[in-house]
Amino acid sequence: MADLLLGVHCSISGGLHNAFDEANQLGVDTFQIFTKNQRQWRDKKISAYEKKEFSDAFDSSAIKTVVSHTTYLINLASGKDDLRSKSEASLISEVERCTDLGVAYAVLHPGAAKDLGYDKGMEQIAMGLRNVLKATRDSNVMILLENTAGQGSSIGYDFNHLRTIMDQVDSDRIGVCFDTCHAFAAGYDIRSKEGYDDTFGQFDEIVGLEHLKVLHLNDSKGDLGSKLDRHDNIGFGNIGAEAFGRIMNDFKHLPKVLETPKKDDWDSKNLEMLRSMVNN
Ligand code: FE
Ligand code: FE
Ligand code: ZN
Repeated sequence: MADLLLGVHCSISGGLHNAFDEANQLGVDTFQIFTKNQRQWRDKKISAYEKKEFSDAFDSSAIKTVVSHTTYLINLASGKDDLRSKSEASLISEVERCTDLGVAYAVLHPGAAKDLGYDKGMEQIAMGLRNVLKATRDSNVMILLENTAGQGSSIGYDFNHLRTIMDQVDSDRIGVCFDTCHAFAAGYDIRSKEGYDDTFGQFDEIVGLEHLKVLHLNDSKGDLGSKLDRHDNIGFGNIGAEAFGRIMNDFKHLPKVLETPKKDDWDSKNLEMLRSMVNN
């Protein structure tokens, strides 16, 4: 079978290289990880030993791409100086870990504007990103802005937000990760062929499809425009299977990662569903 660049979010419990065991068991060629505990600020450096373990596992696996998801605590748009500098430091450390591990992409939720408002929030995100890129200027790791569901004051639910930030950072180390659940919850109706074409047409016009590097494949428990970030199994949520069939065929060349609930072996079921949709 040709490379599908399809995978899941894998656990790093017991060591970063363990993600490869889970991936190999599922027979995927792509996966996403957290490079550290995603709910804690404490950062870690990759030791020489971890680096070797990871690259050995990488080399002896069928994995084509590994993507990292940054910690949820990072908020470059924060109005609080201490939180903002902590966020920058954490993102710098993330890019360094990705560099050490040979991970090409770090996916980032742009941030939450809170009382600052969206425009000022986006300015701060851009400023933070410029600082992070400067501090890691020898790295090739790209930071991918993920579109959001629009929950609370989160920035990035509108493709124009992503464009605004990209314009202000102006670096080829910034790209985009498209999350299907978030887009749908934000009001982009990808269910029908017309809605799907319209959404990706807008994406291309505003962001540029050439900047799209990774997709997160999640069905949505929430309704269209609900701003609810609740992932569902493929074909069982409000988006439905059709859109995922289109994505599997339109974006064969890009890494696609499931972030759906793992219990009851749903990873295998979701993967099987997505694989069956690929036209040869
Ligand atoms: Fe995310
Ligand atoms: Fe996501
Ligand atoms: Zn989500």
